[in-house]
Amino acid sequence: MRYRFLIEGIVQGVGFRPTVFKIAKSLNLKGYVLNSGEGGIIEIEGDKKDKFLDTLKKSLPPLAKIENIELKKLPLKNFNDFEIIDSKNSTKTAFISPDISICDECLSEMFDKNNRRFLYPFINCTNCGPRFTIIKDIPYDRKNTSMSEFSMCEKCEKEYKNPLDRRYHAEPISCYECGPKLSLKWGDKKEEDIKKIFKKVAKFLKEGKIGAVKGLGGFHLVCDATNKEAVNELRIRKKRPFKPFALMFKDIKEIKKYCKINDFEEKLIISKEKPIVVVKKRVDLKGIADNIDRYGVFLPYTPIHYLLFREIDFPIVATSANISNEPIIRSFEELNEKLGGVVDFVLDYDREIINACDDSVICGVDEKILTYRLSRGYAPKSFSINKKIKPKILALGANQKSTISLAFSNKVILSPHIGNLGTVDSIEYFERTINTFKKFYSFEPDILVGDLHPYYESTKWAKAQNLPFYQIQHHYAHILSTMFEFNLKDKFLAFSFDGTGYGEDKNIWGGEVFIANNNSYKRVYHFKYFSLLGGEKGIKNPSLMAVNLLKNIDINLAKNFKEYNLIKNLDEKNFLKTSSLGRIFDIVAFLGGFIGKNEYEGYSGMRIENFYNENFKTDKKLWKIEKNEIDISELIKVVAKNRGNLEFISSLFLNTLADIIVSISKEINLPVILSGGVFQNKTLMKIILSKNKKIYFNQKTPINDGGISLGQIKWGIDNLI
Ligand code: ZN
Ligand code: ZN
Ligand code: FE
Repeated sequence: MRYRFLIEGIVQGVGFRPTVFKIAKSLNLKGYVLNSGEGGIIEIEGDKKDKFLDTLKKSLPPLAKIENIELKKLPLKNFNDFEIIDSKNSTKTAFISPDISICDECLSEMFDKNNRRFLYPFINCTNCGPRFTIIKDIPYDRKNTSMSEFSMCEKCEKEYKNPLDRRYHAEPISCYECGPKLSLKWGDKKEEDIKKIFKKVAKFLKEGKIGAVKGLGGFHLVCDATNKEAVNELRIRKKRPFKPFALMFKDIKEIKKYCKINDFEEKLIISKEKPIVVVKKRVDLKGIADNIDRYGVFLPYTPIHYLLFREIDFPIVATSANISNEPIIRSFEELNEKLGGVVDFVLDYDREIINACDDSVICGVDEKILTYRLSRGYAPKSFSINKKIKPKILALGANQKSTISLAFSNKVILSPHIGNLGTVDSIEYFERTINTFKKFYSFEPDILVGDLHPYYESTKWAKAQNLPFYQIQHHYAHILSTMFEFNLKDKFLAFSFDGTGYGEDKNIWGGEVFIANNNSYKRVYHFKYFSLLGGEKGIKNPSLMAVNLLKNIDINLAKNFKEYNLIKNLDEKNFLKTSSLGRIFDIVAFLGGFIGKNEYEGYSGMRIENFYNENFKTDKKLWKIEKNEIDISELIKVVAKNRGNLEFISSLFLNTLADIIVSISKEINLPVILSGGVFQNKTLMKIILSKNKKIYFNQKTPINDGGISLGQIKWGIDNLI
């Protein structure tokens, strides 16, 4: 009997075929293995199929992942040997692996004087090195990547073709002789000698200079994080006065010097995905993340980073090179054009980045992950669903933290973080991402799903496509994204708290309590509407909105604020109404004295978190429900009265929000889902989890608007097919 397996999952470019080869050889099986667009195909003959599968499952290479196996029995062909056959093009549904940081074996080779790749900045093997960012098309073969321009030298080719070598089919394989070239450029000067390059970069950094370093998915802007003049200069040049910078450290020991981390956070930081992990500060470095108690930290993940840290012993700022909210910059030319005046030097190389990919950002709450940005290392993220669908669905996400999702056959793919669709360049990047994934999977959508918002860029794009287009309410999509992650469909009590989203009643929602399943929702409660003053500007500067709300609750308290005079005669008829909890955070932060302005997204929440004291007990109930509105007027009054008493207000406010969720959960006896940007708040999450452990919330998918496209795709899969 001949057996044919179709193996679906991550099986390309991860050393899957050589593993199969070795197992087949050891069991003396005849047949072949090949990569097709659908996945790995294996044929074997004889009666050892169970033993073979068993061994395969047990000895999968570290990055391989089997999602599904289809087995067919066929007549004998009498193979002579076991072979690895070159990739075959057919329907393209194979999963694309995200990028992978350098592995331990490559690291030790790189630091081994006797190795031919000693200090080679592009060392990689089947278990590590780029994927998504260099892929032009699938299957993941060298000819379909930006490595196609570099022809392998004899030695590399030998390794590449030997199934028993760690570099067998390592698509970006290369060496000093045949690979990409590193170059350091400053002014009109250029250095290409690797031994000199890193010494020079170290010297520049020590002098307080600002540079750009090409990573996997784009450039980072870098400077010495311990040099406050350099950090300040970077802020001035980049016109980014406050928003925290991510820090890259030499190793985990260094991170522990500057940050307080627990075992779980350490596990996240050293994981092979090497995300930015948000952790508590120990040492305050001026200018990095002023006025808040945390840093985003990460470790080197490419050989280039390691070579750099070989020469320096201080942490560096490593922030995405872009103009704020635009996509990360991929090429030297673009860098020069957009940020030429920002950098003193550029560490560049001549392998093209095909697909941009930002760093991922996560944090740990208890033993769970909260995902803020799903990108390098995690995305594109592929899921297998338990049915095969015929029409192809494309979901377009939200306007901020945009992502797209695709559904076809039994697969769902979530794109990496795209960004905020507020500029021409970011909209172009959004379209480019759609086209990239269309090409990868020969995907032409039959149905589009997007947000209800009439003016989202994605809505405008969808309406121009001449395809059936379904619009899903933003906060319902948040909840659906959690349902997607945990494969849920029954009735839930769902709290969808975030910044802003367009409501069915044309108001701006954001503090919503639903009873929802996978086809519909009922809005049981929402935070009491208030006027959204100042539109986009009101998000940055919430003072007028805050004092206006206070005026409607207690005019005498409002009179204590100088803004009162500006709003006392305001006719509120013309303003949008909102139930947004994100805006309530801003209002509390302003009235309580935590902030003057909301310097960047999330600042209010983090300022409030800073002062939380878990020993503080809230005895008075400062909220009530009237009709279907959650009214926190009493709370707002107490906040304004106690302005400046930050610990008191922080504890009172966060405890009250947790109490609202816990109390409603007791009243409506259903399993609970939490989703939306407000739940990025670690302290709030901790309080809620300490009271109710059985809560669903997004963990491995973004809990903020980055997850919206997944919620939309879930709705499409469950309701349109
Ligand atoms: Zn490796
Ligand atoms: Zn070579
Ligand atoms: Fe949202």
